[in-house]
Amino acid sequence: MDAPLSIAVIGSGPSGCYIAQSLRKALPQSEITIYDRLASPFGLVRYGVAADHQSTKSIQAQFSRLFERENVRFAGNIEVGRDISLAQLRSTHHIVVLAAGLSADRAMEVPGEGLPEVYRAGRLTRLFNAHPLEPTGVPTFGKSVAIIGGGNVSIDVLRLLIKQPEDFANSDIDDAMLAEYGQAPVSRVDLICRSTIANAPSDPVMLAELGRIRGVRFSCSDPIEVAEDAPRTALARAKAIGELLEVDPGPETRAEVVLHFGWAPVSINGDGHVRDVELRSVNDDRTNQRLGADSVVTAIGFDFDGGDWHGLGALKADSETGVLDQGLYRTGWIKRGSRGTIAENRSCAKTVADEIIADLDSLEQQSKPGYAGLPEEVRALAVDYAAWKRVDCAEKEAASEARTRRKFPSHEQMVAIAHNKLVESSAAQRGN
Ligand SMILES: Cc1cc2nc3c(=O)[nH]c(=O)nc-3n(C[C@H](O)[C@H](O)[C@H](O)COP(=O)(O)OP(=O)(O)OC[C@H]3O[C@@H](n4cnc5c(N)ncnc54)[C@H](O)[C@@H]3O)c2cc1C
Repeated sequence: MDAPLSIAVIGSGPSGCYIAQSLRKALPQSEITIYDRLASPFGLVRYGVAADHQSTKSIQAQFSRLFERENVRFAGNIEVGRDISLAQLRSTHHIVVLAAGLSADRAMEVPGEGLPEVYRAGRLTRLFNAHPLEPTGVPTFGKSVAIIGGGNVSIDVLRLLIKQPEDFANSDIDDAMLAEYGQAPVSRVDLICRSTIANAPSDPVMLAELGRIRGVRFSCSDPIEVAEDAPRTALARAKAIGELLEVDPGPETRAEVVLHFGWAPVSINGDGHVRDVELRSVNDDRTNQRLGADSVVTAIGFDFDGGDWHGLGALKADSETGVLDQGLYRTGWIKRGSRGTIAENRSCAKTVADEIIADLDSLEQQSKPGYAGLPEEVRALAVDYAAWKRVDCAEKEAASEARTRRKFPSHEQMVAIAHNKLVESSAAQRGN
């Protein structure tokens, strides 16, 4: 193709950044723009990964190099479907890659799921990460909460609920939410995982980390049984759980945590409010049990928001190929489903980039203007990388000593700072 190749990536989370990295390397002359509906880049690294896991969030420095040194444009505050249509992007760019992730918490589809004290893990993790589009206000947990789901997100939620404020030093947790939760913290958590210990999706390192939180007593509802020749991770998980049970909570036990493996919810019960959760044993025919709970958190994965993805119909996120149509691709969670770590999106992006490169000769040959072809009023909305850095600096400036940054809880405020319409860092105060 003679005309410079223009590429639009929708979503600046790990998969969007990784595919831009691969495409930049393979196609150094191409024009690459990463669009995001938020005024900040990095997707779930910023708004999903737990606030007390700053070392995981440090991958942002690597992704930043794309915008700082590799001539990739960031166009934040542009939502596909609101500010511009997918069709418009396709008509102005030779290649469009969807890297928009999956943001809707998957439904459990058990009776009682609609009770008011049933909360979704995605909402909670966004809330404590100060996601600017998440309505604020900490849910009412009561004294005891049942967390349904045995993956790392459920452990993130558990940690959040049983840690004390001082345990969040050097994090970027939303202090207002933390203070609100601190008024009425839970004293018992049941973590319910349908898999056995051997097959559970949790990372043993995440389980071991729980043992370092003071004042918490751990128990397991069933014996810890894993075959001697089980895979290494299964043995490590069993070991981590065994060690958790031996943790001495010290003189003051603030919270009890009970781990249940091989149990799945049948129903959530209560007369207008959550009273208990009925569980069935997944691998044998033991009688169902009822666990008392004041609230329930579901952490069973993520899915598409609605039926139709911007005119593409109802997509399923379990695709072998990244190709959706001529010049249209997808990568990351929107392709594979809500499984896998940040790093796993790298190999996914590399495979999709190879598909794109293999298809180059079949693309429309006429020139396409890329970002410059967007209507002026849409480009006027954009928060570019320099503008995002203004927000980044203001957040760091506004942080107290014990925090790495203080995120702005309002999207409008972020955009105003980015566009230099609100410069005082004190504006980071909630409510300004
Ligand atoms: C709560 C939670 C905690 C996690 N913790 C860890 C962890 O500690 N370590 C780890 O390795 N992995 C962790 N993960 C997994 C990791 O975050 C994912 O593997 C990764 O973020 C998926 O990348 P993605 O780019 O596909 O999606 P996302 O990160 O979700 O990025 C999608 C981006 O697309 C944007 N977007 C969406 N719709 C539009 C639209 N219409 N127009 C424009 N932009 C749009 C979004 O704003 C977002 O920035 C966690 C996941 C969750 C949910």
